Amino acid sequence: MAKASGFARAFRVTDGRRFRLRDVDPGDTGGLKSKNAAGAWLERGTALLARLQEKLYADDRWSVLVVLQAMDAAGKDGTIKHVMSGVNPQGVQVVSFKAPSAEELDHDFLWRSLKALPERGRIGIFNRSYYEEVLVVRVHEELLAAQKLPAKLATKRLWRERFEDINALERHLARNGTVVLKFFLHVSKAEQRRRLLGRLEDREKHWKFSPTDLAERGLWGRYMGAYEEMIRATATVHAPWHVIPADNKWFARLAVSAAIVDALEGLHLAYPEPGPEMRARIAAARAALTAGRRPTAGARR
Ligand code: ATP
Ligand code: MG
Repeated sequence: MAKASGFARAFRVTDGRRFRLRDVDPGDTGGLKSKNAAGAWLERGTALLARLQEKLYADDRWSVLVVLQAMDAAGKDGTIKHVMSGVNPQGVQVVSFKAPSAEELDHDFLWRSLKALPERGRIGIFNRSYYEEVLVVRVHEELLAAQKLPAKLATKRLWRERFEDINALERHLARNGTVVLKFFLHVSKAEQRRRLLGRLEDREKHWKFSPTDLAERGLWGRYMGAYEEMIRATATVHAPWHVIPADNKWFARLAVSAAIVDALEGLHLAYPEPGPEMRARIAAARAALTAGRRPTAGARR
């Protein structure tokens, strides 16, 4: 494979209608045999991303929204940490969405996300997102009751309507200069078991364990159904889903990094060129500073 973008393209869904989750193997590694084989690709991706992010910031027109969704222990946090490791922290905003507060429940389901969207020139990362509204809230319908929707509006059409509203929001964002990239880190149930056990067996990882993780694991089938429907309904050209095989952390990181690099390269970013007046000022400033550093006979006079 000549370019890392191939690792991302293979898992990109831009038209969800035919999508089936069972067609993606969580153990897929894009033909790479080992973590070692991926090392050079990942390093290159990190370096490219650092450069591209600086141009994104300097250009100050586009913004990038990275949405990360996954079951517990699929590796969202580690992916953010590794993929963004070379990037200037000033250009990145990570927002984690937990169970909504009372204030958040007093607003529509998109409200808290809209407030957290990235500014132009920035990469915003949503660690979980408004997609929880068609995942956890769908699996646990009692959460919907807490949202205080007027009874007349909470109909059987609600999930379809949420998909429509999400699609409309993402189209709006795309039309206004936000590149929307969505990732589902697809881990297998067996690998999740291994990772949860690993957390329980290592005292330094106990803090990562939440007893509700097991309850949610018990609803695995329902979650997978909700994920599949979500991807089928919201994968579009302007806001594609990437269904990333995540049983191997190193591969998931590589594929996510490749997808972000690919999208940024597609923007053909360049450092802004100064106009004639600014160029004249730059020349004058250089001359003044040069004169200050190495005084010439003329400058001393
Ligand atoms: P980790 O993977 O490290 O455990 P996490 O993202 O799972 O990190 P937690 O604090 O464990 O972080 O979980 C956040 C919880 O908030 C999840 O169970 C998620 O389903 C829940 N949540 C997020 N958004 C909503 C929402 N809109 N309504 C209800 N629950 C939500
Ligand atoms: Mg959790």
